[in-house]
Amino acid sequence: MPGGLYCEPADLFIDPTRKVARAVITHGHSDHARPGHQRVLATRETLALMEARYGAEAGAERQALAYGQTLRLGEVSLKLLPAGHVLGSAQVVLEYRGCRVVISGDYKRRRDPTCAGFQVETCDVFITEATFALPVFRHPPARDEIGRLLRSVRLFPERSHVVGVYALGKCQRVIALLREAGYDEPIYTHGAVEPLCALYERLGVKLGALKPVAGAKKPELAGKIVLAPPGFDDRWVRRFPEPLTAMASGWMRVRQRAKQRGVELPLVISDHADWDELTETMIEVRAPEIWVTHGREEALIRQANLNGLKARALSLTGFEDEDGELPLSS
Ligand SMILES: [Zn+2]
Ligand SMILES: [Zn+2]
Repeated sequence: MPGGLYCEPADLFIDPTRKVARAVITHGHSDHARPGHQRVLATRETLALMEARYGAEAGAERQALAYGQTLRLGEVSLKLLPAGHVLGSAQVVLEYRGCRVVISGDYKRRRDPTCAGFQVETCDVFITEATFALPVFRHPPARDEIGRLLRSVRLFPERSHVVGVYALGKCQRVIALLREAGYDEPIYTHGAVEPLCALYERLGVKLGALKPVAGAKKPELAGKIVLAPPGFDDRWVRRFPEPLTAMASGWMRVRQRAKQRGVELPLVISDHADWDELTETMIEVRAPEIWVTHGREEALIRQANLNGLKARALSLTGFEDEDGELPLSS
């Protein structure tokens, strides 16, 4: 389905990958929120993220919908519920002639201080993402991973710790988790993550003292934490005192991948549901029918079948995984 998910009775697309007349956007990641739609419906935060990125191209008519607020579109009623993925992220709930469909969008069940937690909604059809839908993917508590980073900072006070983080969501979550762990030093940010941090702050997410790394002198960065988008290059990192490279991503579970990227300190912190979260959510929503998309469909379909649920794969094109990088083998 090249256009994203289409709901015919309401004539709208969810996260369309091409320009459409009416789009519902689940969250601000660029493979879901694309520019140029005529009418865009999303949470206030998602609209703000789109406006920051696309300006006037964020959509000719933009309508904000609060979580839980119901909108009637002909015979269809629509509402958005928190998905717990990034600030403003939403599940889309559509109801038509007594049938309720929930589109999870990207989601996670872990607590995230930077966004509202996932809300379970029972339904007849649950359309789930499947980014980490293999039993090998079990994310450890994010607090523990942040603890490992802080231990390393204490252990190597002469080294700057450069952490690769996706600019929208992961970056701000890592900052918020560091603050929760009691870290109150300034955190240094790469130019590519600064505007989104500022926007999070404007939307009410407190991040504490941030400093642009561009303006910092080399000695100042010893023993400090620098956040940069993944894939920063070696030459850039060498400007820092004895740089130690880390990366925060669900893919860091795959050791060989961390090694391949030269990541010294892999941190398994993901904004996507892991295997347990995916399989448990599937049961909690009590949908007799599961549609699986956006990742590794087969294992989750098999698990749904084992639970006595009907399940099928939906092939949507045009989605990348933003959780750090693309999967290794695809
Ligand atoms: Zn996403
Ligand atoms: Zn996604």
